Amino acid sequence: MSDVVRIKRIIDEAYDTKTFVFDWDAEVRPGQFIMIWIPGTDEIPMSVSGICEHTKSITVKAIGDATKRLHEFKEGDRLSIRGPFGNGFDLSDKNVLIIGGGVGTAAVMPAVVQTGADTIIAARSERDLIMLDRAEKHAANLWIATDDGSKGFHGNAVQLMKEKLKEKSYDCILACGPEVMLYFTYKACEELGQDCQLSLERYMKCGAGVCGCCVMDDKRICKDGPVFTKD
Ligand SMILES: Cc1cc2nc3c(=O)[nH]c(=O)nc-3n(C[C@H](O)[C@H](O)[C@H](O)COP(=O)(O)OP(=O)(O)OC[C@H]3O[C@@H](n4cnc5c(N)ncnc54)[C@H](O)[C@@H]3O)c2cc1C
Repeated sequence: MSDVVRIKRIIDEAYDTKTFVFDWDAEVRPGQFIMIWIPGTDEIPMSVSGICEHTKSITVKAIGDATKRLHEFKEGDRLSIRGPFGNGFDLSDKNVLIIGGGVGTAAVMPAVVQTGADTIIAARSERDLIMLDRAEKHAANLWIATDDGSKGFHGNAVQLMKEKLKEKSYDCILACGPEVMLYFTYKACEELGQDCQLSLERYMKCGAGVCGCCVMDDKRICKDGPVFTKD
């Protein structure tokens, strides 16, 4: 589905990250993403970071041409979007631990809101942490980790996850974040016999499983993912 939506509100999440809120009637599941067309620049994938009836949002970290251009958009401007795409998280397990690393926190936030599950939010430093207010409101327990120790646990998301798994068991871990974080989350879950669902990223073009741009082995990240189980 292709649509034009109007930006209703912009929230400054961090020095390099903004949330764009808009009304959109589409049905979206936590973990799904949309393609955003930025005229003259590119069309890029963005996780849906907020799902509240007809109001949705995306949370964008400015890292390159398209995302920096998107940061120049103002309230009232229009966005061309396609989607939603991808499978999203399976939230049928009730007892889950959710982990968001860096801007990957945006992809897991609707799952935090919907489940109220225990949550870890991790970032390099305090100034890179995003969406703590929403997580504090909805998560049963919120634990924070920073690589430099400027807030919360001094260490990375996976180290904190391992600490928490000593105290409590979960049916499944749900995570999105930098690939290195997901890799070590996967390794730890393998060792511990722990189920997990990990949301992966690749460059994408069509978003709908046709172009093959985001293939990883025999899987299309856009269509077969972006959320994958440990298997
Ligand atoms: C399913 C999915 C969901 C996403 N959700 C979000 C989200 O919620 N918020 C958000 O801010 N970003 C998200 N992203 C990433 C976002 O799409 C990219 O940051 C964006 O495409 C970069 O475009 P750009 O033109 O600004 O940067 P470019 O100019 O294309 O790149 C700038 C730099 O970042 C690197 N880079 C760009 N994209 C990626 C990537 N996907 N993986 C590794 N390195 C990359 C480039 O190599 C380059 O060094 C998501 C990506 C996917 C696949």
